[in-house]
Amino acid sequence: MSQQTPSLSFEVFPPNPAVGNEKILQALESMQTLAPHFISVTASNNKYNIKETTVALADHIQNDLAIPTIAHLPAIYLTKEKVAETIVALDEVGVKRILALRGDMIPDVEPQKDFRYATDLIAFIKDQAPHFEIVGACYPEGHPDSPNQILDIQHLKKKVDAGCSSLVTQLFFDNERFYDFQDKCTLAGIDVPIHAGIMPILNRNQALRLLKTCENIHLPRKFKAILDKYEHDPESLRAAGLAYAVDQIVDLVTQDVAGIHLYTMNNAEVAHQVHQATKPLFKHQ
Ligand code: FAD
Repeated sequence: MSQQTPSLSFEVFPPNPAVGNEKILQALESMQTLAPHFISVTASNNKYNIKETTVALADHIQNDLAIPTIAHLPAIYLTKEKVAETIVALDEVGVKRILALRGDMIPDVEPQKDFRYATDLIAFIKDQAPHFEIVGACYPEGHPDSPNQILDIQHLKKKVDAGCSSLVTQLFFDNERFYDFQDKCTLAGIDVPIHAGIMPILNRNQALRLLKTCENIHLPRKFKAILDKYEHDPESLRAAGLAYAVDQIVDLVTQDVAGIHLYTMNNAEVAHQVHQATKPLFKHQ
């Protein structure tokens, strides 16, 4: 386990281009005051132009707000030419960290043939731009496509060996599952820092979406009770969801997690509330 001070970082997503950037720019300005260790910017798998959305927002965070930035890059629907173009665009604006992803398969949409797994993308980036730092995604409760966790961790080991310097997890609500995963990674020889992805649940719609899309994620009794009891009481659900996330973070930091990556859902108020409640634990902040 790491004995170093943990990092606190945020994830944001570029809004639908039709909606515009006004809200996200305000949120980022507010998040800047919290001096996060880094902010990562998600990328559309197959819907929006990555240069106009992810690269543009990453450029703003890195250069206008002076916050270290990681650009996500899902590649299953991209050709090598498109990925090379995106790397050049990121390099030009000084964003030299990529969260290299396969991306989810979209039903009835034929993938490109160049990047079957994230590992293929990592090898490509290492070849094209060896000065880039590469981060990978990982799944404490197993990736949904994987027949079992052992195989998933074997694939993760290959991914790290291809050139990841750190990992960020999918969200989880049961810290014990994370610790178990961390131990298995250590046994498999995976020795890069693993940042824990934490998402505060703040409203019913978000909870319903989550339950639908994250079937493989264990919901502890304590967490389910919050969803059940406050289903029709938005104020209490928000307060309890936030407290649950803070409780998870306190436990993780106390047990020497490398970092907390907060899924902010572009909500600066949540970032502030989590930061306020946990600030002394991230002493360098
Ligand atoms: P991979 O590492 O390629 O793994 C995918 C599956 O293939 C796993 O089951 C793995 O075990 C298996 N596998 C890997 N290598 C091999 C091999 N050699 N042989 C056989 N099987 C193999 N999606 C987006 O579209 N945009 C985003 O911005 C985004 N950000 C994310 C951020 C984080 C922190 C996380 C955890 C996920 C994110 N995702 C995003 C979702 C991600 O794209 C999906 O979960 C996707 O299904 C898997 O991507 P991956 O890079 O983890 O895939």
